[in-house]
Amino acid sequence: RAYNFNAGPSALPYEVLETAQKELLDFQNTGMSIMEMSHRSATFEEVHNGAIERLRKIYSIPENYEVLFLQGGASLQFAMIPMNFLQEGKTASYIQTGSWSEKAVKEAKLFGNIATAASTKENKYRNIPSIQEITWNEDDAYVHLTSNNTIFGTQWKVFPDTGNVPLVADMSSDILSTPVDVSKFGIIYAGAQKNLGPSGVTVVIMRKDLLEKENQNIPTMLKYSTHADNNSLYNTPPTFGIYMLGEVLKWVENKGGLEQVAKNNEEKAALIYNVIDQSNGFYKGHAEKDSRSLMNITFRVTDEELEKKFLAEAKAAGFVGLNGHRSVGGCRASAYNAVPREACQALADFMVKFQQDHQ
Ligand code: PLP
Repeated sequence: RAYNFNAGPSALPYEVLETAQKELLDFQNTGMSIMEMSHRSATFEEVHNGAIERLRKIYSIPENYEVLFLQGGASLQFAMIPMNFLQEGKTASYIQTGSWSEKAVKEAKLFGNIATAASTKENKYRNIPSIQEITWNEDDAYVHLTSNNTIFGTQWKVFPDTGNVPLVADMSSDILSTPVDVSKFGIIYAGAQKNLGPSGVTVVIMRKDLLEKENQNIPTMLKYSTHADNNSLYNTPPTFGIYMLGEVLKWVENKGGLEQVAKNNEEKAALIYNVIDQSNGFYKGHAEKDSRSLMNITFRVTDEELEKKFLAEAKAAGFVGLNGHRSVGGCRASAYNAVPREACQALADFMVKFQQDHQ
């Protein structure tokens, strides 16, 4: 298997792919693939409800939260959240920590007033703001943040307590990577294609009382209550993606749950950050140390000409997806849950060897 450091869609657990392969043509002796089955069948419903229950268990999601499987990616959530909850004349506060936060703001501006609760743009999005820097108003519709900034490689370690104002988090690129106290959030959302499964499913975890504040004057498919009232089966869901999500959740359970997964992620990321820190400036991390992401490790080879060589040689050596996002350049190693420790060790070794050969 390739050393897959893609930012998303990204590596899936090998064991999950093997199960999917085994079950592809004949799911549980039905003589059909899961993809060929009615989404109203008892067999699919068990898969669907099993995935919801597993996610509830893994995160200890309280009873007063809905778990929804939607479509349209996290990008549709950028619009759906303000469309449902940002009434005209009201304000929502957005914490800007990167390109995805900016995209969320752009959509929200179509519906109401936006206040900047904090922004690290001037620092080239190298850090997460301190809790003291964040401002919002008690009558805000919500406060929005991006828990992990996939492009810049920064990640929140402690979340602000916004009291009665619902905290909304785009967790697309670090969901399921570490334990989170769901009860501190009004809404958590994530496209599946990093830690949850294949692209096509979007997970939304939402406090039920928020549904009462929903805008009624919007299309049926864009209302959260439509999906909440129908157990995410109002229309045909992405059945294969939901099946895969369920298998990924079983894999997380078998790994020992979120605490163990978080520990593995810390150790994996440290292998690469240590090489950067011990390189005497040969490599340079983008993120400030206390804001570093365990999921997306962003760095430069300080000498630009050598950086091109580094990326070319890494590619030739079997490392996939190490180019930084097209908007920022440089290098990025995405070490999501399914990236094995051996891949991170191999990259760390490659980086050390490259430095030795080029100094
Ligand atoms: N938010 C974050 C943090 C992301 O990393 C991404 C995609 O990479 C998105 C949102 C957009 O997600 P989607 O492609 O599912 O719309």
